[in-house]
Amino acid sequence: MAGIYISWPFCAQKCTYCNFASGVQPKELEDQYIPALQAEYAAHRWQWTPETLYLGGGTPSALEPERIPQLLSGLPGRPWREATLEAAPGSLNPEKLAAWVAGGINRASLGVQSFNKAELARTGRKHDAETVRRDVSLLRDFGIGNINLDLISGLPGQTEQSWRVSVEAVIALEVPHVSVYMLEVDDDSRLGAEIILGGKRYGAFDVPGDDEIAGFYEYAVEELARHGIARYEISNFARPGMESLHNLKYWKREPYVGFGSDAHSFDGTMRWQNVETARKYVDKWRKSEPIRAETSRPNPVEEKFFVGLRLAEGVEPDNQDWERFGPAFERFLAGGVMERDGSRLRLTARGMMISNEIFEEFLVA
Ligand code: SF4
Repeated sequence: MAGIYISWPFCAQKCTYCNFASGVQPKELEDQYIPALQAEYAAHRWQWTPETLYLGGGTPSALEPERIPQLLSGLPGRPWREATLEAAPGSLNPEKLAAWVAGGINRASLGVQSFNKAELARTGRKHDAETVRRDVSLLRDFGIGNINLDLISGLPGQTEQSWRVSVEAVIALEVPHVSVYMLEVDDDSRLGAEIILGGKRYGAFDVPGDDEIAGFYEYAVEELARHGIARYEISNFARPGMESLHNLKYWKREPYVGFGSDAHSFDGTMRWQNVETARKYVDKWRKSEPIRAETSRPNPVEEKFFVGLRLAEGVEPDNQDWERFGPAFERFLAGGVMERDGSRLRLTARGMMISNEIFEEFLVA
């Protein structure tokens, strides 16, 4: 079964660690972006009926309620089994929630990142712990109980103590899904530039070390599991049966189509990606030029391990995989970063923390 991704690359502020092609952009660009999106929907030839939808960003929760129907009309598959909207804490209100529910949204993902006000302030976020509690309660009042909360381990100034408070606060809210990302500072972000060039504005001097960040992550894995929220993917944790149906498609190599700037698509064989910025996307639409920037045919063997090993269930290598990668499997098994589960292989907790190094072994020349 397939999914739809819609990119809404507009934000109220640019977070210091973020290097996505999204951020604060002119209002007039937003006005042009919606008809460009609708044109892309209309031009798409649907080969299947989508069962999931993900409206991501950027900050789609900042959209005025009357724009939600414009954004979601013209898409097949209603009622979607799972339709998620990415939300910034503090940007929700009853009018918007009513529009989301009317539009078919039945899941929300809140970019909480931390429950510590000082950590949040340094990232450029304006909410606090109370904002998150209010938003979760409002979502539930409107029947959206399928809620994900995002946390980031490794924010500037984060300590073992403050991290524990954030993890406990997430657990106390009894949501069914949690994502925990280890901070990776990209040179292109403002925080990344400060790390390279020096300065005190964004707290670059106060970013925890790699071992400390890994320790925070391990603590979250154990503590969430103790409360019935198990890791099913490197960064994703859920109560039984509450895994994200849409995101699972990425890791199970099921088809999805992405609309909007920087959106990615996969039809089971080919992958393609739209132009990166909203400005380019709108310009291409106006000039009736192709909005696809890149198309590639990925190697299915590489991808089987690249994406499959992200999942806690791991992958099932066939005879050819054993012939090709046998020595690497044996080395990872002996090193304690991989383990067997019957005929399946999966990463251990330690393996998940160095997953990028492991994945490199599965590059097919
Ligand atoms: S982290 Fe999210 S909200 Fe912040 S600038 Fe990036 S896309 Fe926007």
